Amino acid sequence: MTASFYRTPTFRGVALLGAAAVVIAAAGMVFTAMYEPEPIVAGPGVTEQAVAREYEPAPEGTPADTPALVLGGQEAGGTVMPLGCTHAQEISGLLAAVMVIENVTVERGRLIVVPQANRSGFTHTEPLEGFPHTFTIKTATGERWFRNGMRLTNPLVQWPDPDLYLHSGSSERMVGWESRNLNRSFPGNSDGRYTERVAAALTKVAEVEKAGLLLDMHEAYPEYPIINMLVAHESAFEVGTLAVLGLQMRGIRIDLMPSPPLLRGLAGQWRRRELRAGGGTRPAVRAFHRCRPPAGQPRRSPAGDNRGTAHRLQRARPRFDHRRQQSAGL
Ligand SMILES: [Zn+2]
Repeated sequence: MTASFYRTPTFRGVALLGAAAVVIAAAGMVFTAMYEPEPIVAGPGVTEQAVAREYEPAPEGTPADTPALVLGGQEAGGTVMPLGCTHAQEISGLLAAVMVIENVTVERGRLIVVPQANRSGFTHTEPLEGFPHTFTIKTATGERWFRNGMRLTNPLVQWPDPDLYLHSGSSERMVGWESRNLNRSFPGNSDGRYTERVAAALTKVAEVEKAGLLLDMHEAYPEYPIINMLVAHESAFEVGTLAVLGLQMRGIRIDLMPSPPLLRGLAGQWRRRELRAGGGTRPAVRAFHRCRPPAGQPRRSPAGDNRGTAHRLQRARPRFDHRRQQSAGL
């Protein structure tokens, strides 16, 4: 082949197609890798492995068909239902759930653990978010990997966002993209959008299994006033106070605050549902850990004094405006 061939339109066209094929193949591998679930091992305490469709058929065939692992004790007792990754980028909840699933053995009562409440959040990325897709942790038995998700439902399973999101049941209006926020969707609607169906399925699991305590595990950015905080419905304050005291006595810095009445998360809404129904005493709490700033996009104040900011906000907590708290992204 002569040198002049490499300057022909035919060669340039073939070279361009070849380069495009390489880019498409690489992007396709990255895209499909987001659907590969990280290995989670059922430990010796797991007595039953269920999925959401066994309780509510709405999520069948979708990523909403999330696993719920039951750890049952020998003696009868209460049922506690911890959930991780209502927001899939808040991965400390996932890791806490995995540690329980793989290591805990229950003696009395039951644990029903949902490690990835909104699984579709693990299968996409959002513009301007600098999260890595996966991360690894060194353990005594080798390195383990986990996915890093996004806050909202994947638009591939719920699109487009409405201009205004009308919450099922309450008719409260929110900005459209909140329709993909699982934490704004409870108690859910089995005939509604994907995210509402996820909420309906999780609500059904809690109802059918008669969960006496819900623990919805979140993270918060350092500048928010809810870091290291247990957020409890006012009727769950007794349980929350005992939990906070127990943790503080073990040297774990954590505080207690009331759940915002307008937030449509599982914990607060579950308790309110029970109250409206005139039913039992089912306290519900949400736990917030301090969130690591996402790679490439630190969310720190210009002064960098996030701890001071958080303390100032905590001191102002008695005058805290629940509507502002909701808009702050809980
Ligand atoms: Zn969250």
